Amino acid sequence: MSETKELLAKVSGASTDNEYFLPLPKGYQKGKTRYVIVTGTVMSGLGKGIFSSCLAKLLQDKGLKVEPIKMEGYLNIDSGTLNPFRHGEVFVLDDGMECDMDLGTYERMLDKNLSRANFTTSGQIYRAVLDKERHGDYLGRDVQMIPHVTGEVKMKLRTLAMQSKADVVFVEIGGTVGDLENAFYIEAMRELAYEEGPNSCCFVALTYILEPNALGEQKSKAAQLGIKQLMQMGIQPDIIACRAENPVTVQARQKMSVFGNIPFERVFSMHDSASIYSIPAMLRDCGLDFEVIRMLRIEDRVNLRRERREWERWCDFTDKIGNEKRDITIAITGKYTSVRDSYASILHALEHSGIHLGCKVRIKWIDTSDLTDATAAEALKEVDGIIVPGGFGTRGMEGKIACIRYARMNNLPYLGLCLGFQAAVIEFARNVCGLEGANSTEIDQNCANPVIDILPEQKKIEGLGGNMRLGGRDVELKKDTLAWKMFGGKETARMRFRHRYEVDPRYIPDLEKGGLVFSGKAPNQPIMQILELPGHPYFIGTQAHPELTGRPINPHPMFVGLVAAGRNYRYPGENFPDAITTIQALRKELEPNQ
Ligand code: GLN
Repeated sequence: MSETKELLAKVSGASTDNEYFLPLPKGYQKGKTRYVIVTGTVMSGLGKGIFSSCLAKLLQDKGLKVEPIKMEGYLNIDSGTLNPFRHGEVFVLDDGMECDMDLGTYERMLDKNLSRANFTTSGQIYRAVLDKERHGDYLGRDVQMIPHVTGEVKMKLRTLAMQSKADVVFVEIGGTVGDLENAFYIEAMRELAYEEGPNSCCFVALTYILEPNALGEQKSKAAQLGIKQLMQMGIQPDIIACRAENPVTVQARQKMSVFGNIPFERVFSMHDSASIYSIPAMLRDCGLDFEVIRMLRIEDRVNLRRERREWERWCDFTDKIGNEKRDITIAITGKYTSVRDSYASILHALEHSGIHLGCKVRIKWIDTSDLTDATAAEALKEVDGIIVPGGFGTRGMEGKIACIRYARMNNLPYLGLCLGFQAAVIEFARNVCGLEGANSTEIDQNCANPVIDILPEQKKIEGLGGNMRLGGRDVELKKDTLAWKMFGGKETARMRFRHRYEVDPRYIPDLEKGGLVFSGKAPNQPIMQILELPGHPYFIGTQAHPELTGRPINPHPMFVGLVAAGRNYRYPGENFPDAITTIQALRKELEPNQ
């Protein structure tokens, strides 16, 4: 063993008598876990998360244990306070962590639940460092960006690696190389590669090849400069993935190879594709998966038999893309109607449910700010189903209620998500139960009938901050209801939550007398979580966010049901099976996926 290696192996944590600072989680085994580190240059929004999750999927298919981690540059401790209009939807994990929407991409691609260990922000890293400083953990040293802050980053990675026993950790660094707020992450990755040794880390640089209309050819200069910047920070990329509108030409790839200092075979074209679900095949076709496996020297961990099985399963799904024979339109009401990212998971859930049913799902965005009972019919004339998604605040609420009224009275399929569940309760209370002035106290503090109010259990902790009900909970299902059937006749279903208000239990008897069925509730507490309307072809709402747990090879039954009911609404003469029969049939077909 070389002297350096020996020192690195021995020194653990802070020390006063040498320059090495190598905080390692107890029991960490060097070499067990390898790292794939994905950075972006030229611009943000290249789809680092998509690339990274697709590559991770290909490795997972081969029997390797993979764990992604997204590292964000911002100082917020989590994404809970971010405006979805600027940052895309807030994705909630089963353990209640509110994080970036990329975690949704990973969960969907890998078909597995992630946790707070898979997400970090600069704020979390700094907070950990400052807490340690107050505890006197740095043994009298001045606390520095390097090595202490970078040390904390590596600690987070290695803890994930160790606890998950991962073969490969996929590290996605947010933002773009050159951003000040991400610079310490990149430095931490340089140190990681140095400490872990050769063949332990594979650096992937995503970049963008420009193709200006005026020139009509691909230009790689900006991409070259981006790679150069990464190299100036001490990182030699091992793979360059070129994002572009069209397939990247051999010439452009050659230039990237020469100036990026890497073999031509490791410069990939990752051009736009109609569906993100075709990207794994694109990466696989050019051999990127095995390129990475060879580079990390983990060929002996590959299970080819498993890979064949998994790939077949995946292709059963992707083969259906583009072969949709039917076409339906689902309306989504919402405040952020101009930004698709704020509803990313809903769009994905609809897309993959549609793919499974051979049905293209078009979206009609509806701004409900000026809608009334009189104009809702006109707005919903051409649609085959409607979703009222989650939201906060008062804008457009009356318009949403008008849309729900229309859906209820006209057999238009309806799916209410969180706020959409609450709005359905308000509509029913007002128009069926005759509870005048029914509303949510979020909308009108002094309404005559506050059918939706702050949770009694939460009222106690209100004012202390963090009064949102967050994360995965079991929902108790009522036997023989639509919800019970759609979850396969199980007693409970696991769903994810992010809400503050709920149905006031005092109103439950009135609502039930009117015909509303609460088919899902919290075990041991009167918190209503799923509602449905018998007699209507598909009218269902949930206080949860089922869109967050819909997966391409395991679509969420609530969305499958909406698409199936929408298909019946559009094509009444074709005798398609009803929503629940369709859900049950698909469940059977996909059983091996569950
Ligand atoms: N604003 C509502 C609440 O806090 C709904 C939240 C949501 O739709 N995510 O309960």
